[in-house]
Amino acid sequence: MSTPLANIYSRLPVSFTHGKGVWLWDPQGRKYLDALAGIGVSCLGHDHPGLVQAITQQAARVIHTSNIYEVPQQTQLAARLNALSGMEEVAFNNSGSEANEAAIKLARYYGYKNGNTHAHIITMDSSWHGRTLGTLAATGSEKARKGFEPLPTGFIQVPYNNLAAVREAGDREPRVTAVLLEVLQGEGGIRPSDTEYLRSLRALCTERGWLMMIDEVQSGIGRTGKWFAHQWAGIEPDVITLAKGLAGGVPIGAMLARGPAAGVFTPGSHGTTFGGGPLACAAGLAVLDAIEKEGLLDNAERIGEYLKQALASALAGLPGVTEVRGRGLMLGIELARPCGILALRAMEAGLLINVTRDKVIRLLPPLILTQDEADQIVGILVPLIKQFLAEQA
Ligand SMILES: *Cc1c(COP(=O)(O)O)cnc(C)c1O
Repeated sequence: MSTPLANIYSRLPVSFTHGKGVWLWDPQGRKYLDALAGIGVSCLGHDHPGLVQAITQQAARVIHTSNIYEVPQQTQLAARLNALSGMEEVAFNNSGSEANEAAIKLARYYGYKNGNTHAHIITMDSSWHGRTLGTLAATGSEKARKGFEPLPTGFIQVPYNNLAAVREAGDREPRVTAVLLEVLQGEGGIRPSDTEYLRSLRALCTERGWLMMIDEVQSGIGRTGKWFAHQWAGIEPDVITLAKGLAGGVPIGAMLARGPAAGVFTPGSHGTTFGGGPLACAAGLAVLDAIEKEGLLDNAERIGEYLKQALASALAGLPGVTEVRGRGLMLGIELARPCGILALRAMEAGLLINVTRDKVIRLLPPLILTQDEADQIVGILVPLIKQFLAEQA
């Protein structure tokens, strides 16, 4: 079949005309429980009144000006993010890749300003940081990188959740200036890291003068039940990157810096045409307001735990189910074999999910998910998993 689109995505055969809450409707009027939220983006669900109002009001006033002028919405959103995270300054952009690209540039500039003109960054196996050349070089996925060489150099990949590996990489390469990691890997299969590892890594970065840079693009903005997933470990990173949920569906990215990472960039170091525009920042402010007013951090933690337990008990003892894991509303069910077909079957049954790393069913529902809706996810998904495993037996 010929299509006007580049052949980048194998899409599921469905489209949506509108949504409300966690529900989406297709052109035939069938409804779907959206347990993926556009891959962790639509954190308030669909047609959220506060978000819609903020966007429509801002659009009617002014959509874009430029970063060569003051943008009050951007300043306000930065102040809110700093207060929530303990960071000191924010550089906005338009996506997760761009936020990480900014972090990579910051780590290099930090090195440069300290006499290290070939800064290296340690990143993790099975990590995901984006599709630009720089973030691909940082990403721990052979599959994503293959065929796009030569990629920028200066990245060292080490096993995830392994402190000795980071220390040894730093011993071998004196030009390391930063470590970049997800504290809960998303694309990598909803893989958590240990609290002890994160605390020791924080101490190691401080000891060696490295920036600790945490990619919260997927895990941030309330997804795990705290504003940022690293807050569960009680650590203070030097850099945080954000995107996906930050403006509830409007493209946005942000890099937050503090301590040694703050004040590294100066006018001319970095920039963006669209980043931090009035529309995206008005949306971001509405998202933060809604999360606070509607108690969505508590909801994500409570309903997430409920959903995880419900899935774990419904799947307990089933051969072929490796693990149910994750935190808040960032959950994965790992099966013993590739199960990509389940995304299609779930869609046909009225449930939107996806499968990452071939074997991990991923759930990233809107933070507004109710207990009844969580029960509906279990009610659709568990029989599909059981049927799939029975066929394969
Ligand atoms: C999605 C994602 C990215 C890339 O974000 P884009 O907006 O697709 O560029 C980077 N890091 C993590 C952890 C992600 O989940």
